[in-house]
Parts: sequence; C-alpha cells; structure tokens
Amino acid sequence: MTRSLLDIPKFRDYLGKRILLSVATDEKRVALTFDDGPNPRHTPALLDMLGAKGIRATFFVVGRWARKFPHLLERTVREGHEVGNHSDIHVPLSLLPARLIRREINVTERVIVGATGVRPRFLRPPMGWFNDKVLSIAKKMGYRPVIGSIHPRDSNKPGAKFIVDYVLPRVEPGGIIILHDGGRRVVSDRSQTVRAVDRISDQLLQHGYRFETMSELVR
Ligand SMILES: [Zn+2]
Repeated sequence: MTRSLLDIPKFRDYLGKRILLSVATDEKRVALTFDDGPNPRHTPALLDMLGAKGIRATFFVVGRWARKFPHLLERTVREGHEVGNHSDIHVPLSLLPARLIRREINVTERVIVGATGVRPRFLRPPMGWFNDKVLSIAKKMGYRPVIGSIHPRDSNKPGAKFIVDYVLPRVEPGGIIILHDGGRRVVSDRSQTVRAVDRISDQLLQHGYRFETMSELVR
C-alpha cells in the first residue's frame, strides 16, 4: 500500500504550519476536492452523482483543460460547486521564477473568470510542491493556498476499493479529501475515482457528515 506523506504525523505537523491541510472544527463537515480537470467524461459523471445526492464539492482545475472545456466550468459553478486554481500547465510552481509562477496562476484565473464569472479563492499547487516564494505570490494575488488532509493517490488507479478503504478511516471533522477528475491526458481514466466517490459519500452521509465547498469549510 503506497503511503502518502500526509500519513506521517511529523511531516503533516510541519506542513500544516505552512499551508492549509484541514480546518479545525468539531462539526462533521468535510470537503471533497477534485484536481486536474475539467474532463469531458469524468467531470460530468461526478456532477451528475453529486447533484443527485445534494453534495457540493470543489474542483481545482488546470488552465490547459479549462480552456478546452469552459462549459464544464460553467456547469460546475451553476450547480453550486466551487472552482479553485490548480495552475495552467501543472508544473511544480516552486521550480519556476516568480514571473512564471504569477503567469501560471493568472492565466488559469482568467479562464475560470471568463467561464464562470467567479474569481477563484483557493490555489492548490500542482503535486503539492510549494515554497515561501509560491506562498507569498499566491497570497499577494488574493489566494488561500491549500493542499488537503487525505490523499489516496487515486490517479495511480489503485482500485475503487482501495480508494474507499484508504479515505474512510482517515476522515475527521474539517478534513479535505484530495481526488482527481482529470489527468495529464484527456483520456486519463478516473472511473475508479468516480465509483469510489459514490461509496465514500454514501458512507459519510450515513455517518452524519456534511459536504461543503472549500469556501464553506473555512468560513
Ligand atoms: Zn494535480
């Protein structure tokens, strides 16, 4: 079983002092988040499912896909979900000079605003790579940088059952679940994730959890 660095308490404590991993609350509130989309196959499947259950989520989109499928962004926001910024071409921002970090954020923001009329408030750095430069630029541009607290590495396609079994025991009030509705290629298969989300959401709803967007969770 691949372990996420977020499973190592010392590392999580260190990271949590620098960037948002989860929200302190006693209430059973969690955020489902999806990265690397929008994707013409998996994003609509998730929107259909989440809509049928009355669940709202947050989609951290990349500019290169958002530009191609703006109607999916429009639908995502129209149906009550939130759209976050996940950079334009999905490279580690900490390796870029300041000018290109700003460009990655800016270009994606313009596509999101153009498609939805809403300015994104949250930035998730690709692959979780960040440094002080990335954080300070993001904050100056009005963003709250966020990673999350539960990372089942669903994009490695470990099986829907693995994703479910990984996520459920780690859910706590204020948790932020990191999943993927898109990928490097438009045909990246995220059907395991979609199936897992169906089960994860049913289980958590049964246990009295409420799903919130990132903005709702941090309010
Ligand atoms: Zn990503």
